[in-house]
Amino acid sequence: MFAIEARSLGYRIHTYSPESDTPTGQVADFETVAAYEDLEAVCRFARGVDVITVEFENVPATALDAAAEFAFVHPRGDILHIAQNRLREKTFLRQNGFPIVPFSIVETFEQLKIAIDVIGTPSVLKTAGFGYDGKGQVKITQLTDIETAYAQLGDKSAVLEAFVEFEKEVSVVCARDQAGNFVHYPIFENSHRNHILDISFAPAAVLDHASNSAAEIAADIAEKLDYVGTLCVEFFLTAGGELLVNEIAPRPHNSGHLTIEACETSQFGQQVRAVCGLPLGSTVLKQPSAMANLLGELWTDGEPNWDAALADERVKLHLYGKSEAKNGRKMGHLTALASTPEAAIEAVRFARASLTKR
Ligand code: AMP
Repeated sequence: MFAIEARSLGYRIHTYSPESDTPTGQVADFETVAAYEDLEAVCRFARGVDVITVEFENVPATALDAAAEFAFVHPRGDILHIAQNRLREKTFLRQNGFPIVPFSIVETFEQLKIAIDVIGTPSVLKTAGFGYDGKGQVKITQLTDIETAYAQLGDKSAVLEAFVEFEKEVSVVCARDQAGNFVHYPIFENSHRNHILDISFAPAAVLDHASNSAAEIAADIAEKLDYVGTLCVEFFLTAGGELLVNEIAPRPHNSGHLTIEACETSQFGQQVRAVCGLPLGSTVLKQPSAMANLLGELWTDGEPNWDAALADERVKLHLYGKSEAKNGRKMGHLTALASTPEAAIEAVRFARASLTKR
């Protein structure tokens, strides 16, 4: 989606990934297939391009630092280094006074027992690295066998965090350019299923006060990181109106996919503008909108029924071109614009449900 936007502004795309025929590779001019750890290949790649950006945060910072010798890299390696590890991310947020869920570091079983005394139950034990979409997470209740929960982590560093009885989850997708100008989209409201984003919609049904505070926190985080590009900050919003930062995504984010149709400038267009040194575009929401993710399980009985989903002319389909449909894997999404967010949500839900009708 980034490459398509870049192309529409006349840029040529060279993508780098350990895999071949990737979604980006399918629309790029060139595709380099090499490991991120192969710094020689990284530098060869970097010498051939002007600007480098990433579409997921687990690219090793060493690769980006090496590339930065030859090309502009946004976001920087040190920002990815923070975002790719929950412990570093939470420490950064806490040290800078951002509101977060109480947490403790867990590196040994003894530390887990102490952490449970401090944080209490229910709580969530999360691996520090490579955790997303609920991967590497175990909920701890009074009845949980904590030895088994600890064993599930497989000797990895972890954090224990309080389980938040949140009212809603919301996100701020925003962008910051090289001169420090900042823009944000309207706040998105998100619902998850099995820890994976299911539906996002805008505008969120939250008070102005909450959306203004969320946008201010996102702006402060972007500023602190001296960030360039599209950034997403995910929040828990409690019934008492308290906002807690759950995660930072240093890239366009799944909850911002609806901006492709719903906003004047998409989050991907904004990323292209920011990293290429162009002015940021308008973030105005043209109409209420909703997005529903399409996960691999929809392919269990064969190709989904696209005709049925597209029977509603408001519904737009995006498929990413991933080769294999696995359970829980994000294969694409549906977006709809409508007169109210509720009508947009109903449209994408109905369209998605019809995909498995024969
Ligand atoms: P994460 O990978 O940390 O973003 O977690 C994925 C999803 O799991 C979140 O969007 C929440 O729906 C849920 N979750 C994660 N941490 C907590 C928590 N401390 N309390 C309640 N729900 C959580």
